[in-house]
Amino acid sequence: SEEILLQSEKLSIVGELAAGVAHEIRNPLTTIKGFVQLYGKEDKSSEINNLLLSELERIETITSEMLSLGKPQAIQLNRANLCDLIDHTVEFLSPQANMKNMQFSRSYLGTDFFITCEKNQIKQVFLNIFKNAMEAMPKGGNIDIKLQKGMDGECIISVQDEGCGIPEELLPRLGEPFYTLKEKGTGLGLMICHKIIKQHNGTISYHSKLDNGTLVEVKLPLAN
Ligand code: ADP
Ligand code: MG
Repeated sequence: SEEILLQSEKLSIVGELAAGVAHEIRNPLTTIKGFVQLYGKEDKSSEINNLLLSELERIETITSEMLSLGKPQAIQLNRANLCDLIDHTVEFLSPQANMKNMQFSRSYLGTDFFITCEKNQIKQVFLNIFKNAMEAMPKGGNIDIKLQKGMDGECIISVQDEGCGIPEELLPRLGEPFYTLKEKGTGLGLMICHKIIKQHNGTISYHSKLDNGTLVEVKLPLAN
């Protein structure tokens, strides 16, 4: 519909703008951080210094997420098995998850889930989704990942967590730039997911109720 078109146009303009601004911010930021680190070494009672450093690191996180939004990247499409991409991402997060009392469980209904994709971008999508699941479960819990084939030659990846859930009325806002309910969130993770999934002709949807865990469902076309 017209509304959806407008929203996606808005997204790409915001993305390009964000990446441009982030790029301009990065160099002076690196200089400032270098000096703050240097002064921190000279002054031992450096509570203010630590505060400055942690605020600078926050800006760094935001700018690096913003940079990946609109920057035209040399996209290299390859054939890849989603099982492997998800396994890599889970293995990357596992040490951190174990420390926080969280487990990933995986059930793949089949073995060949080949898609045509930019591998790192698809890994980025699942990294962002898994991180959100982990951040929703401060007391730990299970993250259940399912992979199956749909009726229309697509692959369906579902990620179910046991976290805090999302109030139903807020679901339509997910993926909006800077929309976050976290104190230290950037609200860019899902926006990046939406953008990458759209570039791969896929879809993403959310099912959740407050206090009831969240199910994220990603659909991607399978390669012939
Ligand atoms: P961030 O994680 O930096 O806040 P995101 O774009 O990744 O930004 O997510 C936006 C918001 O969506 C989060 O702040 C959170 O409120 C909500 N959200 C996303 N995934 C989940 C989840 N699995 N469980 C609960 N809330 C979630
Ligand atoms: Mg996030």
